[in-house]
Amino acid sequence: MKPKYQKQEHPQTSYYAATVNEITDYPELEGTVTADICVVGAGFTGVATALTLAERGYSVALVEANRVGWGASGRNGGQLINGISGLGKVQKKHGDGVADMLWDLRWRGNDIVHSRVAKYGIECDLKNGYVETALKPGHVKELDDYAGELQRRNHPHPFELWDRDKTREMLGTDAFLGGLYSHHDGHLHPLNLCIGEARAASGLGVRIFEQSPVTGIEHGARPRVKTARGQVDAASVVLAGNAYHHLETKHLSNLTFPAGSYMIGTEPLSEEVVAEINPRDVAVSDMNNILDYYRLSADKRMLFGGRCNYSGREPASIKASILPRMLQTYPQLKGARIDFEWGGMIGIVLNRIPALGRINGNVYYCQGYSGHGVNATHIMGEVVADAIGGTLEKFDLFADMHHFRIPGSQWLGNQIIALGMLYFRLKDKL
Ligand SMILES: Cc1cc2nc3c(=O)[nH]c(=O)nc-3n(C[C@H](O)[C@H](O)[C@H](O)COP(=O)(O)OP(=O)(O)OC[C@H]3O[C@@H](n4cnc5c(N)ncnc54)[C@H](O)[C@@H]3O)c2cc1C
Repeated sequence: MKPKYQKQEHPQTSYYAATVNEITDYPELEGTVTADICVVGAGFTGVATALTLAERGYSVALVEANRVGWGASGRNGGQLINGISGLGKVQKKHGDGVADMLWDLRWRGNDIVHSRVAKYGIECDLKNGYVETALKPGHVKELDDYAGELQRRNHPHPFELWDRDKTREMLGTDAFLGGLYSHHDGHLHPLNLCIGEARAASGLGVRIFEQSPVTGIEHGARPRVKTARGQVDAASVVLAGNAYHHLETKHLSNLTFPAGSYMIGTEPLSEEVVAEINPRDVAVSDMNNILDYYRLSADKRMLFGGRCNYSGREPASIKASILPRMLQTYPQLKGARIDFEWGGMIGIVLNRIPALGRINGNVYYCQGYSGHGVNATHIMGEVVADAIGGTLEKFDLFADMHHFRIPGSQWLGNQIIALGMLYFRLKDKL
């Protein structure tokens, strides 16, 4: 059965759509377009890959079902934080060499974002500073160990281990037992970053098509990427639809599972409140499996998010499900008006390592960042671009990772993931 798509605009209840720098209006794909590479999906994965390829001189067509940044990339918490986890398991299975290579890649996405923001003059409120916060003694121990590892590996950027008092002083809440502050991580306006990078790519000749859902791929020496009114004939294809695409199900079903993550945005907060709850203007996320994350926007609203479900179904009221979590951490925000509420789909992979691979040698896929995609998408865009250019070392490292697939239908897989997450939710409460 062919997948059905309804073309959509950005969710109008999102803070990011309300404060976007530019409403994009790239044309719909019509007729036959020829390119070296066709990228499907214009979120961070697709845009970052297209931009990297264009910087290297390739001709690229970027085909998006809705609008640039329409998916998770234009809706997320904006936390630019080290994005590859699961290293412990990798080390056990693949040894120190592979784990070290992954460690070295962890902040590469931050570097790419910083350099692109500077190079292309992208206005996206980029700031340094992030704290990972402990909710229970086991988390404090994990942070201690992690700080030890940063030291052992000569992490080149400043970091600080905060005790309970320091965390209270910096975050204006008693909710946390401690935190690890990292200067090289930070936060930004994700939709404006994505649109800015797309604008840069377009400036380098990337042909961008919006409102053009890809309905299928005809494989061959030069695969053809089909939409309702056109096609792209390319030497290679990159699938970058993450949790939203349903293409190549024979190869990709049950590899990535969609999970909903949801956010609210308050009215702008007073200077006094801001000075009390986040004077350093850092991004924050806690260490639960089903975590809460938050930061202040450039106009000093609290943007607070959390994961409400792993069934892929939107809650009846996003505000009703997120607001109590925000007030638990910040009772002082009681009464603050909630101006925005929105959500989107992240792609979960069971081992938490992004799923990369190739179908028939020339159709690449790159998905499954398990909620940590702002950084990781930019890393993977570079890894895929390297692979297309013939340097396969990093790509093969990811492609060779064993990804456990849940047997049966995607629907059954989602139910099993939802059950698994219920287990983690209970574990968080212990
Ligand atoms: C609410 C929320 C908060 C989050 N917070 C953070 C955070 O703070 N930090 C962090 O690092 N990560 C966060 N994430 C995760 C992060 O946003 C994602 O990992 C990342 O954006 C994935 O980017 P992507 O380009 O792979 O996918 P998406 O951004 O989802 O883009 C996929 C694109 O492909 C398009 N597409 C799909 N199918 C087709 C088709 N057939 N034809 C053409 N186009 C197609 C879609 O329309 C979409 O635009 C969050 C996610 C959500 C939803």
